[in-house]
Amino acid sequence: MANLCEKTASQLLELYQKKECSPKEALVSVSGSIKAKDKDGRKIHAYIDSENVTPKFREKAFSSGRLSGIPVAIKDNICVEGQEVTCASKILKNFVAPYNATVIEKLLDAGAVIFGRTNMDEFAFGSSCETSCYGPTRNPRDPERVPGGSSGGSAASVADHTAIAALGSDTGGSIRQPASFCGTVGIKPTYGRGSRYGLIAFASSLDQIGPITKDVRDNALILSVLAGYDPKDSTSANVPVPDYLRALENQNLSGMKIGYPVEIQKDLTPDAAKLMQGAMKVLEKKGAVIDRSVTLPHTRYAVNVYYIVAPSEASSNLARFDGVRFGFREGSATNLLDLYEKTRGEGFGAEAKRRIILGTYSLSSGYYDAYYLRAMKVRTLIKNDFDKAFKEVDAIMMPTAPSGAFKVGEKTKDPLEMYLSDIYTISANLAGIPAISIPGARSAGENLPLGLQFLGKPFAEETLYKIAHAYEQESGLHKTLGNVR
Ligand code: GLN
Repeated sequence: MANLCEKTASQLLELYQKKECSPKEALVSVSGSIKAKDKDGRKIHAYIDSENVTPKFREKAFSSGRLSGIPVAIKDNICVEGQEVTCASKILKNFVAPYNATVIEKLLDAGAVIFGRTNMDEFAFGSSCETSCYGPTRNPRDPERVPGGSSGGSAASVADHTAIAALGSDTGGSIRQPASFCGTVGIKPTYGRGSRYGLIAFASSLDQIGPITKDVRDNALILSVLAGYDPKDSTSANVPVPDYLRALENQNLSGMKIGYPVEIQKDLTPDAAKLMQGAMKVLEKKGAVIDRSVTLPHTRYAVNVYYIVAPSEASSNLARFDGVRFGFREGSATNLLDLYEKTRGEGFGAEAKRRIILGTYSLSSGYYDAYYLRAMKVRTLIKNDFDKAFKEVDAIMMPTAPSGAFKVGEKTKDPLEMYLSDIYTISANLAGIPAISIPGARSAGENLPLGLQFLGKPFAEETLYKIAHAYEQESGLHKTLGNVR
């Protein structure tokens, strides 16, 4: 039998049921794998802390539930009661979460084991996991390369079999882009599909939590547990949660129309063009009809809009970190203003400061109309484009990222270039719609995983899982990449 850490959640559940192994053995296998890989010289560094299983969680974990005894790694911006949570920022060092995020409560209720804190870009600002105050995470497929970001630690742990599954958060692509770079599956659910309570906010109108997994089945299983209304989060929607596993029963896509937008077809990198050619063939083979005439004319403004809206919300959300209430405080301050300046000056890294300055500027009274308000208007146009497109098609396909994982250090000098790596992921957050990334192909030459993205109507995660699963089963990439053995 392969090591238990190399199993998927669904495989482990089956083994538990047949009494072929126990949750404790799986847990030991996962921690053993982390320890072994910590020492193997590749310096993947997916975890900030991997010793987090408390007895309290254990008790609940081994009872019955849909995820009974499944270890799930958690991004360092989701609160787990009694555990440090820092958003990989010096400003939150030593801050201990006073309560569980709702997603943590849900995982615990389903019997999962909360296991380890995964590395991320500071406050989820980034696409490469290089802005963490703990140092970068590297891509297990090629340690010279980044794992993507900001949920880079979560994606790397799953790809490296140091986690069975992990939670990430996605504001502009932070689940899907690292999933793409590491060859895993990641979904950003519809805005409001689940609770953000206990997720340390980056941009409240864009953030969602979602699972990163080895295959589509695990993803559907875990989202079935996470999704749903939460009275503690007024932006969560009271919409019934289907059992997403049901979407996987039938892999026939006939009758389904998938749009490949005109704007996306232009300016593709050779790798992305090949990915899309191959993807169309696979989907057509499964019975889907590809519509190459749908248009999303305003998506070309998505990056511009996002880099006004997201930093604006971030500057407001990060105002609370002032040295008074949370985490780090610069001790030498002589008065209140000095305390703010010194704490924030020392506590935040360069990218966080850049976002705060950008956001504060676009929200300031003289510039609000010119920047923030205007960006919000274009955001509506982007959403309208999708509404219109979804009158014609059931889902939309595009690459997750322009290329495979880039090299560590390659884009750190030019923030604008880094921002452009999210060109295909951002519009789903602006429109509030669900989007999934699955392994779609491998790059020529370097053989790196390339993510294929499907976007759906609000609350149509089921459709996305159906298409993604059919694609996965036909392409077999989850197996050839070694995610499922
Ligand atoms: N890379 C994007 C950014 O830096 C998205 C990050 C995210 O989704 N959290 O803002």
